[in-house]
Amino acid sequence: MKLFNTLTKKVEEFVPNVEGKVNMYTCGPTVYHFAHIGNLRSYIMEDVLEKVLRYAGYDVKRVMNITDVGHLSSDADTGEDKMLKGAKRENKTVMDIAKFYTDAFFADCAKLNIKTPDVVEPATNCIDAFIEMIEVLLQKGYAYRAGENIYFDTSRLDTYYVFGNQSEEELMVGVREDVTEDENKKNKNDFVLWFTKSKFEDQALKWDSPWGVGYPGWHIECSCISMKHLGEYMDIHCGGIDNMFPHHTNEIAQSEAYLGHKWCNYWFHVHHLNDQSGKMSKSKGEFLTVSLLEQKGYDPLAYRLFCLQSHYRKPLVFSYEALDQAAGTYKKLKKRIQDLERSGAADETAVAQYKEKFVEIVGNDVNTSMGITLLYDVLKADLSGVTKRAIVASYDEVLGLELLKEAVAEAGDVDAELEAYVLGKIEERKVAKKEKNFALADAIRDELLENGIAIKDTREGVVWERI
Ligand code: AMP
Ligand code: ZN
Repeated sequence: MKLFNTLTKKVEEFVPNVEGKVNMYTCGPTVYHFAHIGNLRSYIMEDVLEKVLRYAGYDVKRVMNITDVGHLSSDADTGEDKMLKGAKRENKTVMDIAKFYTDAFFADCAKLNIKTPDVVEPATNCIDAFIEMIEVLLQKGYAYRAGENIYFDTSRLDTYYVFGNQSEEELMVGVREDVTEDENKKNKNDFVLWFTKSKFEDQALKWDSPWGVGYPGWHIECSCISMKHLGEYMDIHCGGIDNMFPHHTNEIAQSEAYLGHKWCNYWFHVHHLNDQSGKMSKSKGEFLTVSLLEQKGYDPLAYRLFCLQSHYRKPLVFSYEALDQAAGTYKKLKKRIQDLERSGAADETAVAQYKEKFVEIVGNDVNTSMGITLLYDVLKADLSGVTKRAIVASYDEVLGLELLKEAVAEAGDVDAELEAYVLGKIEERKVAKKEKNFALADAIRDELLENGIAIKDTREGVVWERI
């Protein structure tokens, strides 16, 4: 496997800390509103990364936080509290908002075939761990108290801009709204670890701490939650490109100051989905959600295909014309797969060879568009329909496009039911033969024949066809 690593700005051979195992962390959503399809582009591509690692044989443990406290609208220490903004907008409590939009997020993920990570942890579950980490940072001299808040002291680090030459645009993310100088900060880049005194006197969620009643800054949650579940060494940390600065930069600062050693080896950043007017937003222009696409008649998986058709390290521009194209491609692709011959046995050698090719291609820095091209190569290859179906099923473990399931569903549920019935009978007959109950085995074959299904024993197993 090869991955582009934002730390080195190179495509590198992926070598995990422990052979065969991958510790992976994903910055989860801020649950104050629905996710837009831009956010979901990041989660789709991170899902493919996880799945291709599993496909290549790695044992992956993936953790995701849910940001339900501390994230201000600027990504840094200024602006409005996002959760509070959501609660006010809907006249609900912050916790109600968090619950509603967490559920909505996972419902969207399910529609897009994004697997739920092995561990999902809301920030508000881990306040004690945040406090403990902040105490250590204070003891080690990496944090200070000013104006009743606790800040991380970036001047104590040899390198703060770990990701190198951040573009002006990336650096501006942290200061894009409500810029107000915080006079408590000793250095421009210092950031809040714990707020006790701030402009959010009406902050709904507050906890007791050694420094007074307050709440955590945003960045601390990802350091703590990842260490809680993945330990002191992490293989891959994921997020959208806007997370590079200040969020991930600050995560690295505080984690490595706390641990005293390097924390995470590979940083995987998904570039943005933009609309034609620029950056996608939840407040300006059309708020593009999965539900909106569904209302307009799109299959969410057509959007997944749209994302997979381009590389995660390139910005992607959304337009309905482009989505229409992807939806058309998706439909034709499914039809083509549906029409493949279903009788006979799969050529297992060919299946294994094509699996290897897939790992080589998609495992090369998550090259999903080349993966889709390979899928078309399979459909064009000189292979039997059954072999092609077996390869498509295997690729779909990573692509997550339900290429076979959709094909069956499109032909009507009768087909799906029939297939399930036949496979069930074949299994019963296998058991009967094993128990040397040949009379029952023959009766099962006859019953299938009466229903228009012929079965044949071959060296590769039982095959069936409609007669
Ligand atoms: P948030 O809910 O704001 O914390 O963001 C959730 C995830 O979506 C983060 O990983 C962001 O980096 C990512 N993200 C935000 N905007 C976009 C976008 N337009 N395209 C792709 N990913 C995005
Ligand atoms: Zn994070």
